[in-house]
Amino acid sequence: MKLRVKLVAALTAILLASVVAGVAYMLWSVHITGTEHIVSGMRQDTHWIQQSISYFPENSDLQTELKRLASATNYHITLYNSSGVMIASFPAGPDRSPLQHLRAGQIDEMLRVPGTVLTVNEQSDPKLRVYASMEEGPEGVRFFVIQQSRSDALKPYRDVRKIIFIALVISMILILIFSLVLAGIIARPLLDLTRDVEKVAGGNTTHEIKLKRSDEIGMLASSVRKMARIHKTDYNHLQSLHEKQRQFFADITHEIRNPLHTIMGSLEMLELPGLDDHKRKKYVTSLRNQAERIGRLFKDLMTLQRFDSDENFIIRETVNMADITGTIAEWYYQTAESKGLELKIDTHPCMVDADPGKIEQVLDNLVSNAVKFTGEGSITVGYKQSGGKVEVWVSDTGIGIPEAHWSRLFDRFYRTDKARSRDKGGTGLGLSVVKSILTAHGTEIQVESEVGRGSRFFFVLEAAAITDTSTSTGLNE
Ligand code: ADP
Repeated sequence: MKLRVKLVAALTAILLASVVAGVAYMLWSVHITGTEHIVSGMRQDTHWIQQSISYFPENSDLQTELKRLASATNYHITLYNSSGVMIASFPAGPDRSPLQHLRAGQIDEMLRVPGTVLTVNEQSDPKLRVYASMEEGPEGVRFFVIQQSRSDALKPYRDVRKIIFIALVISMILILIFSLVLAGIIARPLLDLTRDVEKVAGGNTTHEIKLKRSDEIGMLASSVRKMARIHKTDYNHLQSLHEKQRQFFADITHEIRNPLHTIMGSLEMLELPGLDDHKRKKYVTSLRNQAERIGRLFKDLMTLQRFDSDENFIIRETVNMADITGTIAEWYYQTAESKGLELKIDTHPCMVDADPGKIEQVLDNLVSNAVKFTGEGSITVGYKQSGGKVEVWVSDTGIGIPEAHWSRLFDRFYRTDKARSRDKGGTGLGLSVVKSILTAHGTEIQVESEVGRGSRFFFVLEAAAITDTSTSTGLNE
């Protein structure tokens, strides 16, 4: 059953029950008090009727006097003597013994005390009767009864009951209308909210839940709004993750297809008969370069995958920066020299709290880029301790990076110049690997650069031992 129907049914039932109970009580009390009121009037009337009977003129006709009295009072009056024998009655009727309604003992008692009044009011009796005794009256009258039809006497009260019934029917109709309206008022916000929630649950994350109230329904609406907001954020986040993942796989496919094409081409050339030594060497070198490029790509991907999923991605220890930069110097000495570049690498002792292998990977990527993108001049790797921090930097005098690229430089597969980067064997993942490793160290990579003049990448590590003065080998710019 729908909420609104339930509310209407409940409200109607409650209101009807109370109205019907109230009306039943009113009808009952009208009936009871009405009867009591009539009987008490009759009892009072017996006093003056008794007086009137006592003063019937002597020698007058009793029946005629009684007729006058009965007509004046609207009662049916019957007179009895002390033996209970009817003396006169108006309107005339069959001789009815008082013993039909009273016990003999009651009659005796009544006769013993003149002025005694006795009421006979039985629901099954269509008449209301009041007996009264008196001192002996004309023709030996000792007691009499006044009676009237119960239904005639209660007629005015029946009209009141009719009015109450009509009021009951009107109340019922009003209750039904009131219940419908009230149920609508109570149920409408809930129905609106349900419709809103269904829309949000159906995936319409932009749907706005407008309901604003200060009651419990309002609180419910604000909770649902909060949930919808979280749902929307999660949904958008998932969408963007999905988009990133799609882009990521597209990029990987692309990155692998290129070297594979080159490898296939080189292999086809190597199969040509009569290839001279010079060309053979050229194609073998190309094969090696492309294979190395794929190898680097997978190494970078694995690093990124571990950063995404492995809590123990880095293992910190106290390490001397000089050991790391020394290794870098060994790796790049020859490459730099072959390009005519000056390689200035700081190797003064400086203890940091970091993962040595990962920081080595960071400097490897940064120096490798610096060598790739610097035509002439120098490349510097330096570090400087200041208090508990050690700033590390790699700078070059290369082509520089336009500022528009700085914010996206560390995104996966982002390149400022795609063709040039691939030509140089880049994977497009170097700087995102750098960023991931440094994020895991609780720090971040930053860049400053000037097109045509060079770039400077720098980050800060935790010093393992705090020294009072800043130390360097003079490489700090
Ligand atoms: P890649 O493998 O292409 O070098 P990276 O993530 O290491 O990928 O670098 C992203 C891009 O940033 C490079 O393609 C290049 O355009 C730019 N870049 C990085 N380092 C330098 C630098 N020292 N000088 C100029 N451009 C750089």
